[in-house]
Amino acid sequence: ESTQFQIEDQEFQLKPDDELRFEVEKKNETVVLELKTGYAEIFGAELVQNKLYKFYFGAKIAVFTWQGCSLKLRGKKGISYISKETPMLSYLNCHASLEQLRVKSEKEMKRGPVTMVVGPTDVGKSTLCRILLNYSTRMNAPGRRPIYVDLDPCQGQISVPGTIGAVMVERPAEVNESFSQAAPLVYHYGHTKMGINSTLYNTLISRIAKVIHQRMDENPRINCSGLIINTCGRVKGEGYQHLTHIALTFEVDVILVLDQERLYNELVRDLPVFVKVVLLPKSRGVVEKSNKFRLEGREARIREFFYGSPRNVLHPHTCVVRFSNIKVYRIGAPPIPNVLMPLDMQKTDFETKLERVTPGPNMMYHVLALSFSKTVEEDVIRNSVAGFVCVTNVDTSQQMLTLLSPQPKPLPETIYLMSDVQFNDNNA
Ligand code: ATP
Repeated sequence: ESTQFQIEDQEFQLKPDDELRFEVEKKNETVVLELKTGYAEIFGAELVQNKLYKFYFGAKIAVFTWQGCSLKLRGKKGISYISKETPMLSYLNCHASLEQLRVKSEKEMKRGPVTMVVGPTDVGKSTLCRILLNYSTRMNAPGRRPIYVDLDPCQGQISVPGTIGAVMVERPAEVNESFSQAAPLVYHYGHTKMGINSTLYNTLISRIAKVIHQRMDENPRINCSGLIINTCGRVKGEGYQHLTHIALTFEVDVILVLDQERLYNELVRDLPVFVKVVLLPKSRGVVEKSNKFRLEGREARIREFFYGSPRNVLHPHTCVVRFSNIKVYRIGAPPIPNVLMPLDMQKTDFETKLERVTPGPNMMYHVLALSFSKTVEEDVIRNSVAGFVCVTNVDTSQQMLTLLSPQPKPLPETIYLMSDVQFNDNNA
């Protein structure tokens, strides 16, 4: 095999403020990065010298250095290049301003900066959130505990696609992993596009804001560290209305607008004057994601939920349940034409209606969220979810569902919420 795949090492010398960019373009390709001398970081997380960092298919990486460094890449066959133009200094300045606000709020015992990152698709919103969170929890930061709120249901960074949620960040993320997930707060939305059920989306936003504000009030350290909120790339029409709704319900102090002057001007025009709106350049290194790549990213995210990552392998279980033993619901009744709508009902009532789903082939491959609500009398829609299973087989003759579950335990008797999001375990 070693003669078939010739693996070459490439060495790179970076001057201060340079950035090495590379991607892992092929399935089964692995690229190994090593910092030989100097200092470097990936999206705000510092690299350790002589440690080997492995990257897998789909990774799009920038290794930045403030001081200069030498790097070694192994296994990389496609493009990799050094760029001298990056917006990292602007991003660092943003972090410094946020840190000043945190110090101030600590002294005055007030809520720390609530920051929201907005912009069209593929401008590096998630990356900027990551950089700011990593900087705020690096060792020279005095015990900051910011909360990362991800309101983009498309990729589902906190949990799986089709959900939105929040997680407290205690330390920088491992270079090639997401933030460690102690007790994330996860809400079932059930779609990957915000526009499909705007009423539900806005309801969940208000709910998350309320829960997080409560947590901040209870814990001074979280309170002064503030929030970093990631948003969706749809910034026109309804998408824009969602952004202003988020800004108002979360009571944001700072909005970082990536790349789009028009959006910047609209937000300055429409939001109260005390909200500081800042326009920031995007990095030219940000890679545009095709629909196919996004879909693969979503699948990979769900696969990771069940099977773990190379660093943390998990062993999911399958279990079989009778149709009659599981209570599956979906949120939002199918829309009915206006003329047929009862006079005392509005479209919004339908969008937050809980509908029982009869088990059957229509459930095949769907992700089901396990609600913390056990009965429909509880506030199922506004309650967070505990985990997920996925339907891997429907046997109508035996009236049985086969479910993939991350845990060996019997499934709890609770309300299961069916998501539009599907995952076919056989598509490896
Ligand atoms: P979305 O359209 O999903 O909202 P986004 O605006 O949040 O996207 P990111 O997900 O942050 O954009 O970035 C897109 C991709 O570009 C990611 O895979 C990220 O790792 C990569 N990327 C970001 N910055 C750089 C850079 N400087 N060099 C190389 N790749 C980068």
